Amino acid sequence: MKTRDRLRIAMQKSGRLTEPALDLLNRCGLSFRQSRDKLFLFGEGEPVDLLLVRDDDIPGLIAQGVCDLGIVGRNVLNEFKLSTTGLEAEPLNEWRPLGFGRCRLSIAVPQELDYEGPQHLEGRRIATSYPGLLGEWLRTHAVKAGVVTLAGSVEIAPKLGTADAICDLVQSGGTLVANQLRETEVLLESEAVLAGPLTLPVDERGDMLELLLKRLDGVIQVRE
Ligand code: ATP
Ligand code: ZN
Repeated sequence: MKTRDRLRIAMQKSGRLTEPALDLLNRCGLSFRQSRDKLFLFGEGEPVDLLLVRDDDIPGLIAQGVCDLGIVGRNVLNEFKLSTTGLEAEPLNEWRPLGFGRCRLSIAVPQELDYEGPQHLEGRRIATSYPGLLGEWLRTHAVKAGVVTLAGSVEIAPKLGTADAICDLVQSGGTLVANQLRETEVLLESEAVLAGPLTLPVDERGDMLELLLKRLDGVIQVRE
């Protein structure tokens, strides 16, 4: 692949992380103009461009070298890492937690179920979009359960009878209550992170990344 001289960061095109990510980069002194095809935001001053994609594609794009970095939820990053374990994939690193997009990946059961611990899930079916993270948690707790992988609307699976419990992202818990579910286990505390390969490119992009990390640290510290 042709090497780039500009740092390329993938971020969510449209969703929960889009505005706060742009806001953070603006605070780091970066400004952008949109490409005609709306795929890129080109940096106006510094050599940093943003690639606008679905959040689920971000870790793969970094692993393939299509971009140098990505702004993505820890949930998506860690699920990708688990799904590529044992494959010959570029290992990915969490360079910085970014302090927005906070949520947790939790197990929830129907409100009427007496839940006394992980063993209650033995032999049950759990619906999730995160089979890797759920599978790891089940192994850690020596629980054998069926994992039903769904792309979305996981919270309605118990009502439909396709699962006994769910493992999904929770922010306020409002969606769980609306679906008569109760949160019982937290598998992962998540927030948006700056993800990238383990080592920086040794060229102008590496220099720009170092500068960006310094600015991020300043901006994040001020905000905390
Ligand atoms: P895309 O179209 O890019 O695939 P999406 O629907 O998968 O979008 P969003 O719902 O915008 O994604 O969520 C993006 C990220 O926001 C999640 O991966 C997660 O890290 C974070 N997040 C924070 N709170 C929540 C929540 N309550 N539900 C879902 N995601 C949340
Ligand atoms: Zn997504």
